[in-house]
Amino acid sequence: MRNERNLKESISIYDNYEIDSPIKNTEDKYYFIFYERKLLLIDNKIPLIKDLSEINIPKEDIKNNIHLGEFYSKDAYTVELAEDYENKQDYDFIDLYEVFDIDEETYLIAGRAIQIIDWENNHQFCGRCGAKTVTSDIERAKVCPECGFTSFTRICPAIITTIIKKDTEDLDAEGKPTNKVLMAKHSYHQTIRYSLIAGFLEAGESIEEAVKREIKEEVGIEVEDIEYFGSQSWPFPNSLMIGCICKYKSGEINVDGNEILDAKWFKKEEIENPPSDISIFSKLIKNFKENY
Ligand SMILES: [Zn+2]
Repeated sequence: MRNERNLKESISIYDNYEIDSPIKNTEDKYYFIFYERKLLLIDNKIPLIKDLSEINIPKEDIKNNIHLGEFYSKDAYTVELAEDYENKQDYDFIDLYEVFDIDEETYLIAGRAIQIIDWENNHQFCGRCGAKTVTSDIERAKVCPECGFTSFTRICPAIITTIIKKDTEDLDAEGKPTNKVLMAKHSYHQTIRYSLIAGFLEAGESIEEAVKREIKEEVGIEVEDIEYFGSQSWPFPNSLMIGCICKYKSGEINVDGNEILDAKWFKKEEIENPPSDISIFSKLIKNFKENY
């Protein structure tokens, strides 16, 4: 129940979006337009227009224009502008991280839209035989006419997990062990001080195995009672973040000093609130603070 409540706070990509709807030729259409991976917003909104010429984007500036489905009952397209596009109108192209704080629903659809553009660009040629691929008529796939190899949008699953320990050597005012969470300082984060353990799944392993392996590799301890918390699309560039909660079992913290610089146990009051709610990290931290 605890986890359900946390997930209900999120909106769904499908609240007003249909993924597989055929082109309806609506008079107005939503255009998710990207230039250098940033999204065009006009007055903080996705342009709803008859075509791209209405906002002075000429055909020769369009690299990709792909039907995305239906958004608020209108045809929706994802568009990539060419590298040599000149922003003569001085439009605002917004980083996806910032779009979340402007409008979460726009962020969710745009996160899918940019991944469709990536799929289009990254599967122009067959990864098996090198022939030019064609776009399938029946599903979101690139098919090789020579060998039949099919390429779908690629999503890379990753886990992120809270590790919770009852510290029997640190008792609260009532004499009960204090709940603590393990956080680590990654060398690749410039701005985030301490974060939760996270990493990509390896081929062949389960979510639970990935959680155990990442924790063992990064901080050297053993965990148990791994629970699923929730998941989130993370389009930077193409991850699915799988949030988990687990309990400390045994071992001492031991970091490698390269990928992980430091790791330690934090009490609730020692954890700063994340600067944005964009990631499942913030939901996991909130869950720990409210429910443990
Ligand atoms: Zn092929």
